[in-house]
Amino acid sequence: VDNTPVETKTTCPYCGVGCGVIARVEEDGKVSIKGDPDHPANFGRLCSKGSALGETLDLDGRALEPQVFGAPASWDEALDLVAARFKDTIAEFGPESVAFYLSGQLLTEDYYVANKLMKGFIGSANIDTNSRLCMASSVAGHKRAFGSDTVPGCYEDLELADLIVLVGSNMGWCHPVLYQRIAAEKARRPSLKVVVIDPRRTATSDIADLHLSIKPDGDVALFNGLLAHLIETGVIDQTYIAAHTHGFSEVFEQIMGQSLADLMMQTGLPAMQLRQFFKLFAASEKVVTCYSQGVNQSSSGTDKVNAIINCHLATGRIGKPGMGPFSLTGQPNAMGGREVGGLANMLAAHMDLENPRHRESAQNFWAAPTMAEKPGLKAVDMFKAVADGRIKALWIMSTNPVVSMPDANAVKAAIEACPFVVVSDMQADTDTARLAHVLLPASGWGEKSGTVTNSERRISRQRPFKAAPGSAQPDWWQLAEVARRMGFAQAFAYTSPAEIFAEHAALSGLNNNGSRDFDISAYRTIDAQHYDALSPFQWPQPLGTAPKDSRFFSNGKFYHSDGKARFSATAPAQSDRVNDAFPLTLNTGRVRDHWHTMTRTGKSARLSAHLAEPFAEIHPLDGRDFGIEDAALVEITSVTGQRVIVRALLSERQSRGAIFVPMHWTGEVAPTGRVDTLIPSNTDPISGQPALKSCGVAIKPC
Ligand code: SF4
Repeated sequence: VDNTPVETKTTCPYCGVGCGVIARVEEDGKVSIKGDPDHPANFGRLCSKGSALGETLDLDGRALEPQVFGAPASWDEALDLVAARFKDTIAEFGPESVAFYLSGQLLTEDYYVANKLMKGFIGSANIDTNSRLCMASSVAGHKRAFGSDTVPGCYEDLELADLIVLVGSNMGWCHPVLYQRIAAEKARRPSLKVVVIDPRRTATSDIADLHLSIKPDGDVALFNGLLAHLIETGVIDQTYIAAHTHGFSEVFEQIMGQSLADLMMQTGLPAMQLRQFFKLFAASEKVVTCYSQGVNQSSSGTDKVNAIINCHLATGRIGKPGMGPFSLTGQPNAMGGREVGGLANMLAAHMDLENPRHRESAQNFWAAPTMAEKPGLKAVDMFKAVADGRIKALWIMSTNPVVSMPDANAVKAAIEACPFVVVSDMQADTDTARLAHVLLPASGWGEKSGTVTNSERRISRQRPFKAAPGSAQPDWWQLAEVARRMGFAQAFAYTSPAEIFAEHAALSGLNNNGSRDFDISAYRTIDAQHYDALSPFQWPQPLGTAPKDSRFFSNGKFYHSDGKARFSATAPAQSDRVNDAFPLTLNTGRVRDHWHTMTRTGKSARLSAHLAEPFAEIHPLDGRDFGIEDAALVEITSVTGQRVIVRALLSERQSRGAIFVPMHWTGEVAPTGRVDTLIPSNTDPISGQPALKSCGVAIKPC
C-alpha cells in the first residue's frame, strides 16, 4: 500500500499575484504548503502569508450548519426561507429592492452564478462586490482608454523592463512575490531601475533607485507633468499617436504651460526629484508602470489611471515586451469577477450592460426571463440604499463590509435595519455574520473547487484537498439552490463547477469574433476530467487556439469602435478634506502578514507575530507637534464623528502631515482599529470607488 501523502496543486487565496501552491495533507492531518515550481506566476516562490496557509485551516469559529434567526436549521429550511423572502420582496417592491454584495474572494464559478441570477432572472443589476473597493478605478480607466477592461501586459514584462515605476503600491508587502521577482531581476541586472511613488517610505522603497514621497493624491499632477516633459523633449511617438489614438490635442491643451513651481506645489516634490524621474522615464523605452490601491482608492482614481495610461500611449510604450501600464489587482479573483460581469455596471463576458445587442445576446444565451436594463447600485450607494430602505433583502457573500466599507458604522447600522439579510461565510462570527437573519456556512479554500484569474489575466484552478466541515457548501451551490427554489430550476441545474466554467467559456465566445477582449471559448466543451487537470493559462484563448503567453495591443488595435485608444483629459484632485479641525491625512492599507479583516490570517500565530496590534504611523515631528510619544495610545477622529484608539508608531518613513493606519483590525475594545469607521463615503465620480486613503483626521494622546 502506498501511504505517500497526496499533493494537490492549487492557488493561493490571498492577493492578485495568484501564486501556485502545492498542498499536502500529512499523516497527522496537518497540511504542509509549498510553492508550485511550475506555476508561471511564482515559479515556486511564496510569501509569508502563502507559506502559512496550512496554519489557517482549523475549525475554530467556522460556520458548520445553517442558522435561521440565530437557531440551527437544515439546508432546506434555510434555502426555502431565502428564496421565499427574495421572491416575496421582488413581488411586492420590484427587482430593484434586492441586492447581492459579493467578494473578490469568490471563485469565478460562484461569481458567474450570482451574476446570472441577479442580472438575467431577478432582472436587476444590484450586484456589486468588495472589488469596488479594490480596482473599480482601473476598470473605468481601462474602458475609457482602451474601450475594454484590458490589462495589456504580463508578469514577464517586469523582468524585461529597464525601468519599473510603482505608483501607490507597497508591492513588497501587498504583492510580495512580484516584488521578489523584481528584486531578483535587479540583483541579476543592476541596470534595471525602480522608482517608487508613495507618500510613505515603505518596505518596497528598499529596492528603489528613486523614491518620490508624493503628496496624497498628487499623482494626476505628476503624470500630467511627465507627459508635458515627454512632449517638450520630443520623446512622444507622433506616428503612433496619429495612427492609434484620439484625443491627444485636448490633453495637450490642458497640460502644457504649467510652471515647475505649480507642479512642485501640487506634488509636494522638489524640482530635482521631478527632473530625475522625468529624465529616467524619457530615457527608458522599456518602462512598466505598476499601480495599485494608492491610485485606485481615491476620489480621482480613474483620472490617475488615465494620466498614467496617457504617458504610455503618447510614447507607444504599450503591448510590447517590457512596457505598458499594469494594474495590480488586490484580491485573488478580482479579475475573475470582472470576467463574469460581477459589478453593478458590467455584463457577463466583458459585454456592456448598456448595449442592447449585448443584453439580447446574454438573455438569449441564458434563456433569461427578465434582463437588467440599467446599471445597478455600486457598493457605497448600495449600502446607502439599504440604509434608506430601498433595499429590503440583501445577500452578502464571503466579505465583511461592517469592517471594510467606508463609514463602516453607518454600514453596520444599515445592515442592522435591513428587513432581511443573508450572509454566506466560512466563519460564523464575523462582524457582518453576526447581523445575519440567515447564515449559510460556506466551504472555503482547500475545500472548494473552481478557478481564479490573477493580475496578468492568468486563469488557475483552485482544487480541494480536504472535506468541508459540518454541512458547509460552495457558494455556487447555495446560489443555484436558491435560484431553483425561486422557479429557475432549468437554468441553474448545475451539478459541478466544471459545468459552470464551460458555460462561462461558451458565453465568452458568443458573437465575439475578436470584438471583445475576453474570450476563453476554447474551453466551452471542457469536461470534468479536463477541468480538473486544467493548467494555468492566460486569456484570451478563443476557439481553436492553444494556450500561449499574451499581450494585448501589440498591433496598435484597441476596442473602441474605430480601433483607436483614447487620451483622457484628467484633473488633479481638489483636496478639501484636510482643514483646521482635521489637519492630518489618514492613509489606510495592508500590513505584510495579514489579509483583509483577518478572518483567516488571524488564525496563524506566526503571521500575527509580525505586527500584533493596530497602530498609527506618524512622523516624529508631527508626534512632537501633537504631543504624541512613541508607543502611547492615541485617539483618532474624523468628520464621521467616530473614533479609533491605537498605539502611535513614530517613524521617519511616514511623511509629514499624514498618518497610516492598517485596515485589518476590528473589535470594539481599545486599542481598536476599525479604521474604516473614520472614512466618509466619498467616491470617485466615474468608478464609484471609495477614497480610502485620504481622509482628514485629528489625533491626540489618550
Ligand atoms: Fe499568496 Fe500573494 Fe503571497 Fe503569492 S504573493 S503567496 S498570491 S499572498
